Amino acid sequence: MAEDLNPFKIAQTQLDKAAEIMKLDKQAHAILREPKRTLIMSIPVRMSNGQTKVFTGFRVRYNDARGPAKGGIRFHPEETLDTVKALSAWMTWKCSLADIPFGGGKGGVICDTKKMNDKEIEAVARGYARALATDMGPEVDIPAPDVYTTPQIMAWILDEYINITRKNEFGAITGKPVELWGSEGRMDSTARGGMFIMREAMKRLKLNPKKSTVAIQGFGNAGRFAYELSDKMLGAKVVAISDSEGGVYDPDGLDLAKLDEAKKRTGSVQNYRSKNAEKITNEKLLELKCDVLIPAAIENQVRGDNADRINCKLLLELANGPVTPEATDTLFEKGIVDLPDFLVNSGGVVGSYYEWVQNITGDYWDTDTFNAKLDKKLTKSFLDTMNVQKEYADKGQKINPRMAAYIIAIDRVAKAMKARGWY
Ligand code: GLU
Repeated sequence: MAEDLNPFKIAQTQLDKAAEIMKLDKQAHAILREPKRTLIMSIPVRMSNGQTKVFTGFRVRYNDARGPAKGGIRFHPEETLDTVKALSAWMTWKCSLADIPFGGGKGGVICDTKKMNDKEIEAVARGYARALATDMGPEVDIPAPDVYTTPQIMAWILDEYINITRKNEFGAITGKPVELWGSEGRMDSTARGGMFIMREAMKRLKLNPKKSTVAIQGFGNAGRFAYELSDKMLGAKVVAISDSEGGVYDPDGLDLAKLDEAKKRTGSVQNYRSKNAEKITNEKLLELKCDVLIPAAIENQVRGDNADRINCKLLLELANGPVTPEATDTLFEKGIVDLPDFLVNSGGVVGSYYEWVQNITGDYWDTDTFNAKLDKKLTKSFLDTMNVQKEYADKGQKINPRMAAYIIAIDRVAKAMKARGWY
């Protein structure tokens, strides 16, 4: 039977598997299988041609037992309610594993920003904010950027929120421009967090980053900074990178300035040129022989049907949901260390947490302080995960890193729900 690629089914399957391993209370399990609240909105927008177009938006508050819902807003032509539900569940586990005082939420709008001008994107953002304004806030639900949303979009949403609520609450949204009390460190914190995890994981695997090759799928906020930092922070050689149109491979390594130039000039990194560079599809990029593979784009990239051809030692899930449950099992059997998304990419939301803390206290830190805290937090999440994996191994049960991370995250949320009397 073909694998079910519905992201929310996948999120539920992962939860079910972890619940079984950790013998989770049945009532807690039932609560955690569904989002607490789902909002569907229609956003009418007067387009530049004078015609009104109605966009559909979503905001899902998955669980807020440990604090206000937290999670990004995605603008994507293929956005679905189930994708948002899955992403909001993963945010719940992400915030819990990182041990920050947030629950999980997520939002999205079905739209193609590549086919819209700035005025139209602004109108969608403001319409979204108007629909959500009374249901968001620094203590309620705190959005942030995700795929195809930017600090500028966060600024428009914040402006609308402030106009409606009459409260200058800058902590109502994160990933803001620095001029609006965003944090310098938040820009690359998703990738930087991933690099701290990569450093720790490579130590364990006894791999020398300076002698390692890296392939990255994606050239957005996560993928591009992952390139920059794997080179700058760890000295690893990036041999392949891609965007939604395709990728480029060069065994001698790629040059970031030239990649930026190709992207700017032609719209895609696949048009990068050098002596040995060759175009490569996104599928083939995933199958390259390399030390570290970093899917940093979207869901369902490594699946039951291609997991067998993955040829790396360490797989870092910098995207949300890039590896399906069937693929997780195959990779584990093959001995590839596959570190889960809600651990690897948690630097993004931890960075958001630091931005929020500064906004609500009014006490602002320098970027070195921000990055040092991020390092400590991410390293701890990694070590916690490895320790739980080992605890189970010592009891004779082999579990993969994803399950170990789930067990930690679920346990904390379940205990909070219990203390609050939800079951
Ligand atoms: N969209 C990012 C994620 O999936 C960041 C969320 C946030 O900062 O709230 O983790």
